[in-house]
Amino acid sequence: MALEKLGKALNNALRKLARSGTVDEALIKEVVRDIQRALIQADVNVRMVLQLTKTIEKRALEEKPPAGASKKEHIIQIVYEELTKFLGKEAKPLEIKDKPTVLLTVGIQGSGKTTSVAKLARHLQKRGYRVGLVCSDTWRPGAYYQLKQLVEPFGIEVFGDPEEKDAVKLAREGVEYFKGKGVDVIIVDSAGRHKEETGLIEEMKQISEAIKPHEVILVIDGTIGQQAYNQALAFKEATPIGSIIVTKLDGSAKGGGALSAVAATGAPIKFIGVGERIDDLEPFDPKRFVSRLLGMGDIEGLLQKLEELQKAQEFKEEDLEKFLKGKFNLKDMYAQLEAMQKMGPLKQILQMIPGLGYSLPDDAVKVGEEKLKRYRIIMDSMTEEELEHPEIINYSRIKRIARGSGTSTQEVRELLHQYNQMRKMFKSMDKRKLSKMARKFNF
Ligand code: GDP
Repeated sequence: MALEKLGKALNNALRKLARSGTVDEALIKEVVRDIQRALIQADVNVRMVLQLTKTIEKRALEEKPPAGASKKEHIIQIVYEELTKFLGKEAKPLEIKDKPTVLLTVGIQGSGKTTSVAKLARHLQKRGYRVGLVCSDTWRPGAYYQLKQLVEPFGIEVFGDPEEKDAVKLAREGVEYFKGKGVDVIIVDSAGRHKEETGLIEEMKQISEAIKPHEVILVIDGTIGQQAYNQALAFKEATPIGSIIVTKLDGSAKGGGALSAVAATGAPIKFIGVGERIDDLEPFDPKRFVSRLLGMGDIEGLLQKLEELQKAQEFKEEDLEKFLKGKFNLKDMYAQLEAMQKMGPLKQILQMIPGLGYSLPDDAVKVGEEKLKRYRIIMDSMTEEELEHPEIINYSRIKRIARGSGTSTQEVRELLHQYNQMRKMFKSMDKRKLSKMARKFNF
């Protein structure tokens, strides 16, 4: 688990709050002080910590809890929200749009770059993309063999030549080679021989010039703590198409410092490295990350409850509108099917209205647990864009999704069919009656 120590310390602070009888100003201040201490110990910049905890304290003292939540729960939610904001708020997933998409990775020696390139290749392969790796490290001949050894068991090809001395030439040739092979993604691993930012950025510029990557990914060692700020800032200023992988967040005492420092520069963190194995790479999502960080033991249940409360609220306002307009996407469908499986709200509500006359076809809104699991697997192999705009999923995407999820094209089609059926159904409903009903049931 990433940042275990920080997670435990934050969890202890929140547990103190959860266990206490009454919540008064003294308690809030004590909890805030505990959070401060935990963050500073994880090497988070002191000025940033003070700013963050000031906001938490102010909100905890001034805001009223929303309906259905207690004061304690509300404070936990505030901590969760502010920490999420602190780490960048929204997830910024890696987008693979063009074929081939060319990615260039750069990083200081020993940052975990080679390992991260292998992890990223495997991550994309699991999502159905064919990936080619180019090793343009002319500095360390061992790098080529290291990369090959890491990805060969998965049938991922590495282009390189340990004898070649010209990194730019190698990068260019490698990209041409994989273009000829028709892969979906080409990852070019640069030399990484530099010990400081200036040399690193110079190298990035030279190779970028030659291969025109869609995105440059900087690999930063999470064990350097808040020092990561300068590296990330110099990189962000040098390229508008940069994103970041922070490595070694498993077991590092300073990982919290590194993550928050990078987030503070505004450079998007897209992945984190959480171990030495090839599968130890996670897409970075501040919300999920913080809820897991805080979500230990008894806090987890509380966070879940709050999340559900929030979801219910979100569904009321936004989703109904979307459903009424027939505008909902695959993610909405999944959430609805999942909810339906638990309690069947929409179906029950629709059927409870006398005279409304909607009897929903069972197969349109109800799917079994097994099928829902298969849907999840298929959807995990889709890109954000596909989930939000299912209409772009054409045959070649269906093939890619099936390959990535280890399912069949028929199963992917079935999911899309279900989606289209639901969409049509909602679109054809009487809008006036539906909104009247929604008001009546406070839906
Ligand atoms: P490079 O010089 O930047 O290419 O670094 P390497 O990829 O060779 O990694 C340097 C060391 O860090 C290796 O021993 C890796 O196994 C280790 N490493 C890389 N990423 C992680 C990570 O996320 N967690 C842990 N614990 N070790 C990592």
